[in-house]
Amino acid sequence: MEKIIDEKQQGNTLVMEPKTGNGKKLMIESYGCQMNFSDSEIVASILAKEGFDTTQSLEEADLVLINTCSIRDKAEQTVRKRLEKYNAVKKINPGMKVGVLGCMAERLKAQFLEEEKIVDLVVGPDAYKDLPNLINEVEEGRNAVNVILSKDETYGDISPVRLQSNGVSAFVSITRGCDNMCTFCVVPFTRGRERSRDPQSIMEEVNELAQKGFKEITLLGQNVDSYLWYGGGLKKDFKNASEMQKATATNFAALLRMVAEAHPKMRVRFSTSNPQDMTLDVIEAMAKYPNICKYIHLPVQSGSDRILKAMNRLHTREEYFELIDNIRKLMPDCAISQDMITGFPTETEEDHQDTLSLMEYVKYDFGFMFAYSERPGTMAARKLEDDVPEEVKKRRLTEIVNLQQQHSHFRTRQFVGKTVEVLIEKESKKSDAHWSGRTTQNTVAVFPKEQYKIGDFVNVKINDCTSATLIGEAVGYSENN
Ligand code: SAM
Repeated sequence: MEKIIDEKQQGNTLVMEPKTGNGKKLMIESYGCQMNFSDSEIVASILAKEGFDTTQSLEEADLVLINTCSIRDKAEQTVRKRLEKYNAVKKINPGMKVGVLGCMAERLKAQFLEEEKIVDLVVGPDAYKDLPNLINEVEEGRNAVNVILSKDETYGDISPVRLQSNGVSAFVSITRGCDNMCTFCVVPFTRGRERSRDPQSIMEEVNELAQKGFKEITLLGQNVDSYLWYGGGLKKDFKNASEMQKATATNFAALLRMVAEAHPKMRVRFSTSNPQDMTLDVIEAMAKYPNICKYIHLPVQSGSDRILKAMNRLHTREEYFELIDNIRKLMPDCAISQDMITGFPTETEEDHQDTLSLMEYVKYDFGFMFAYSERPGTMAARKLEDDVPEEVKKRRLTEIVNLQQQHSHFRTRQFVGKTVEVLIEKESKKSDAHWSGRTTQNTVAVFPKEQYKIGDFVNVKINDCTSATLIGEAVGYSENN
């Protein structure tokens, strides 16, 4: 799922502006990918209609919801620890109800509700509209569960409340579920089959964000390039669509153009791209519109053809290089990032060397790297032995992380001496005298605040860098203001 897991964001409690509701307080905590954070905004919106106000304080919450991630075992363990904490608080405040949302719901519902009895409510990613009914059930003293995965739920009709928003950047969900069936991945099981959201409702949400003064949106999905609207329904059923539906269908490149044209001053990002689905027309649209950010998150997972095949990634190393070459040809300044897994079953030193050499070829700007974690129910768990020893996985992980750091530094150094446009998002974590924002390439830049403010597009002259951050000084507003 995801763009990526921002480890610093994990477990953030999301709050919205207080309103006068039914006096009930909701605490919602999110783990995992950006899609989960975006889903929590949908949940908060559904429950705001029921009169719930959000709180950051566990002690004052009437309802605690934890939006969970199953992608790796560690993510599940983190959630478990939080559930233990909630249950300790429940002893002091027995009226407090606890619910599990998201990816762990389906797999662990029976365990949580019946065996361990640590939650009152379990709700899967496609059942959030049922939350008001389920909460009623719980209030009447019954456990409540709905983990049904849907063919067409996209929450297109829900206008998400923006939780803990900086008022500058927002996520807009465009697809749900995933059909890729990568053999290591639980997402198709936890979030269901892939379906796309009606472009009209996407445009309405984007227009509303623009009206509210947002300056950057990220179109979100497990595999955004696979976006396809033909009147509703699953992507896999497109082959049975009518001729008319096929002729009038909207693909991702068309959607991207629509959004970019409607708001030429708004930055447009998207995540995640699966290499097998990223077509030339998407790259062409990116190259054509200056407001589409020059950054592609393009997970590859491994540099070895043999491992790519075993992972059911439907492209080869060579095809990936072709894609990279096309991106560089049309957008020489485009940043590219990766997700990588070390120690997938049967991975040899030679396969690992292939990963390192692929990284040398691309020299990614950023990377998100993980040791393989076997997930119950996946094809890899069923068919392949998790045979790479933990210390080997870790050692290979360290090697790719170190190489990535060199490449990131190589990339940030290219900006030193240049002037780049930065959208100011927040105060720098390290200094309250500096702003922090991002370039079109998604690289973080920090610079002295002067008269500028959050939401301004500023030209920043870069004087120095670390491997992750550009350091500079503002030289004026950019034309985009
Ligand atoms: N949808 C994206 C794609 O197809 O590339 C990314 C999905 S996933 C939520 C984010 C990243 O988690 C993946 O790209 C992969 O690197 C990592 N990941 C997924 N399953 C994993 C597993 N079983 N063990 C370790 N890492 C995993």
